[in-house]
Amino acid sequence: MNLFLILFSIFYFAQHLLDSWLTWLNIGYVRKHRQTVPVYFQEKITLEEYQKSIAYTCEKARFGMIASWVEVPIFWGLLLSGFYQRLDVFLRSLGFGPIVTGLLFLATVSALFFLLSLPFGLYSTFVIEQKYGFNRMTLKLWLVDLFKGILLSILMGGPTLAAILWFMDHHLQGFWWLYVWILLSLVQIFVAAIFPVFLLPLFNKLTPLEDGSLKERIYELARKINFRLSGIYAMDGSKRSTHSNAFFAGLGKFRRIVLFDTLVKSLSEPELLAVLAHEMGHNVKKHVRTGLLVASAASLAGLCVLSLLVNKPWFYDAFQFAEPSPHAALLIFMKTADAFTFFLAPLSSILSRKHEYEADRFAAEVMERREPMIQGLVKLTRDNLSNLTPHPLYSFFYYSHPTVMERIRALERI
Ligand SMILES: [Zn+2]
Repeated sequence: MNLFLILFSIFYFAQHLLDSWLTWLNIGYVRKHRQTVPVYFQEKITLEEYQKSIAYTCEKARFGMIASWVEVPIFWGLLLSGFYQRLDVFLRSLGFGPIVTGLLFLATVSALFFLLSLPFGLYSTFVIEQKYGFNRMTLKLWLVDLFKGILLSILMGGPTLAAILWFMDHHLQGFWWLYVWILLSLVQIFVAAIFPVFLLPLFNKLTPLEDGSLKERIYELARKINFRLSGIYAMDGSKRSTHSNAFFAGLGKFRRIVLFDTLVKSLSEPELLAVLAHEMGHNVKKHVRTGLLVASAASLAGLCVLSLLVNKPWFYDAFQFAEPSPHAALLIFMKTADAFTFFLAPLSSILSRKHEYEADRFAAEVMERREPMIQGLVKLTRDNLSNLTPHPLYSFFYYSHPTVMERIRALERI
């Protein structure tokens, strides 16, 4: 038995068991608190709204758990049956070069896992989200999105992957991983830069925010903190879902503020400004840059590890490949990395939560009041049926944002 495979299976099942245990803890905890609205929210959220948020939380959690266990026999079935090896042999027999063979191999496997995930995506959108009144998507729009998504990943992912396979195939004095890392970093920056101007409009209609007091006050806010803005847009998020959001995207002169129409409708002007001040806070406090640097360092570390593994026959044996190849190495790496790094997840959650506290504080300071931020948070929680009482261990492990109560308490201490 292959030692790497044994180690991987230990991590894989530990990940699944820990995830299920945390989810089970969370469901129990949430249900235990279902009789009364937490004290702070008693005037702001009705018992009916609160219990709806609990039902929504539990239903999503149970569904997520089922989906993650349904994947287990499929994943191991493909791995242990030698499917990957047979696919590899078949594609090699077609006589294309290593790059095209590699692309075909990875595209086939990705398409297979994508197809297997489709029923879960459909159920989540058209059953769960529908039941709680969030879904606005029609089947037609869902199919159009699907088609555009596939086309984009072929057009953008295809050439990138071909370049990666080429670098790996040519070794380049053992430094291929460095070139791949530089390439990935450039692609990441490029996509981040053009996202709001070229990618987002493929899926959504962005309209410049109408002249008026809201727009004036946003510019006033940006001037006050020397924040360079090159456009404020309202986005028709409501055509897919009533969940609301706001974000900054793009780099340089493509940098834009995007407000979901659902958010503009639900929040008052001071609350909207506070939410935007929070988002600007992420930029001013260099959270975006830190996040990019951390991700970049992680991908460099991952590529270094992969460069040590590509020459080891046991690495390929683990997935039953008879012949080593860049595409086999990439597949094994992508399918195993998640399990090996799962236990590091809280580290990134901790950093992200620290950033959220800082951005909240920034918003309160810039607005010179904390009430708009607090009221904005309460409304967003209510409208999105967010979980008010997650199990502390669950939120510690998974939450990228502190819980609403933690954020409000921190704001009240300022
Ligand atoms: Zn934030």
